[in-house]
Amino acid sequence: MKLDNSKAPEVHEVDLHLHTTYSDGTLTPTELVDLCARKGLKVIAISDHDSTEGVAEAQSAAIRHGIEIIPAIELSTDVPDNEIHMLGYFIDMEDTGFQDLLREFRAGREDRGRKMVERLDGLGMDITWEEVERIADGAAVGRPHIAQALIERGYVSVWQEAFDKYLGRTGPAYVERTRLEPEEAVRVLLDNGALPVMAHPLYYEREDTRKLKNLVTSLKEAGMVGLEVHYGEFSGSEIDMLANIAAELDLIPCGGSDYHASGKPGEIIPGEAGPPMSTIEALREMKGVARAL
Ligand code: AMP
Ligand code: ZN
Ligand code: FE
Ligand code: FE
Repeated sequence: MKLDNSKAPEVHEVDLHLHTTYSDGTLTPTELVDLCARKGLKVIAISDHDSTEGVAEAQSAAIRHGIEIIPAIELSTDVPDNEIHMLGYFIDMEDTGFQDLLREFRAGREDRGRKMVERLDGLGMDITWEEVERIADGAAVGRPHIAQALIERGYVSVWQEAFDKYLGRTGPAYVERTRLEPEEAVRVLLDNGALPVMAHPLYYEREDTRKLKNLVTSLKEAGMVGLEVHYGEFSGSEIDMLANIAAELDLIPCGGSDYHASGKPGEIIPGEAGPPMSTIEALREMKGVARAL
């Protein structure tokens, strides 16, 4: 008898990491919510970079489907030679101080985007800031928008090629922008009443588990409450390793697809990765505690 080692496809009802056209995703909030509904999702977080502007539209679209939307954010932070992305869940979107800060970050993205276009010009690539602006169409400008401009001009054929050749951290057109330190991002989110969760931990460190654990421990001490464990691009053994770290440090295991609708071959689609519904219960419970502090 042949043993069947194939696992039944898991049904995911929760996706806590999604991007829309308000940052560098290519689906509008309505299109994204419709897709999530078709995939059977029940609770999703709209976690654009430096913007909560997609949340209201997502909430309107979600009513039709009986899906719950968690207002969220993804903030990029700086550490030496690396970056850490911090997700925040249950954002208070009426917090004017927080919105002012997001506006500042978006302005910083524009300045940096213009500089990257200049660098590309210096490298002989004739793209203009106006093209990038048109592609971004009012969104928080990200490198994917610049990648798209390079594709449209025929300098590269796919998104990944743009990052590998020019836009990646060590690429010749890469420009830094001012960002918070991770502990500051944790503080900003807690001050808003939101729950800070470290995004895709293995993008920070894949080899040295001890280094990763030390970093996660210090962020937990700063007030971080969760860790992205069930992440689209992580393997089963990587997810197990991260689940162990989360359990050991008493962090809520979160996760999602980080869907951008980038068209990248093999892109993880909403519904293909995510935490169990018990994560939502744990986040809600934590939210109640955080409010009381
Ligand atoms: P930005 O916020 O402008 O720094 O752009 C970050 C976004 O670019 C990420 O959310 C990814 O979608 C994408 N990205 C960053 N680095 C890479 C890379 N090396 N390869 C492909 N995409 C990347
Ligand atoms: Zn992104
Ligand atoms: Fe990220
Ligand atoms: Fe993301």
